[in-house]
Amino acid sequence: RLEQYGWNPRIAAAFAEHAAPNRVPARVVLEHTHIYRVVTADGETLARVSGRLRHHATSRADFPAVGDWVVLEPVSNGDARIHAVLPRISRFSRRAAGDANEEQVVAANIDTIFLVGGLDRDFNPRRLERYLVVGWESGATPVIVLNKADLVDDPQPFVNEVQALAPGVDVHAVSTRTPGSLDVLKQYLGFGRTAALLGSSGVGKSSIVNKLVGYDLLRTQDVRVTDSRGRHTSTSRQMVLLDSGGILIDTPGMRELQLWETGETAL
Ligand code: GDP
Repeated sequence: RLEQYGWNPRIAAAFAEHAAPNRVPARVVLEHTHIYRVVTADGETLARVSGRLRHHATSRADFPAVGDWVVLEPVSNGDARIHAVLPRISRFSRRAAGDANEEQVVAANIDTIFLVGGLDRDFNPRRLERYLVVGWESGATPVIVLNKADLVDDPQPFVNEVQALAPGVDVHAVSTRTPGSLDVLKQYLGFGRTAALLGSSGVGKSSIVNKLVGYDLLRTQDVRVTDSRGRHTSTSRQMVLLDSGGILIDTPGMRELQLWETGETAL
């Protein structure tokens, strides 16, 4: 079961260093103020960070984020405890609210980052170049997706233009309005592979996510969690398994990152 979520020998080796009685590996599938939903070999459970992890944390970046692999202590009644965050192969960060110098991780362990642009009037190769920098810095492999290909007669000149700016990076023109057009992305979403989308508002990220997932993620996949004050709230899923075997991460933090990276005040 954990293999479905991307468990592999590298993560197993990292976990082995923390092996102890009553410790199991888990992946964070949802983050919600101070409480996490994690998946283990036995299924999903809610979890909080241990006092020790909190005490030893030197910055927000030391706390778990969606996509992280963690060392978990299951608890028979109540929330499980997260004792450690395993080393990340990639991470997307933003400045923490209230402290411009503090890094907050918004998603971790993403293999492929789809950098999405639109082939509409907002087509902006320079913006894609900036996203490319963010993509490379994260440690994930960037793939450029030019959406709304249905709006142009021939997407190839656009693909060529972007390809020239991004040597060695795969560039695909797609449309969420054309059946089968997104199939080309499935090669990056094989079994246990994790991907996320980054791009400006309006380029069609939600449409792509919904098409890949096969249903309206936001509307149909609400889950209920209890926050630190005991209030119940519902929030949408932040990590989903696809039929192709891949894993898609879509967190509010990634969405804010989009605004932050392209906003007037930053970059
Ligand atoms: P997001 O802000 O990046 O999540 O973008 P959305 O998924 O909300 O899409 C923004 C707008 O673009 C919506 O009106 C969509 O219907 C439209 N859109 C999405 N994909 C396509 C596409 O492939 N072709 C066209 N013509 N419109 C699209």
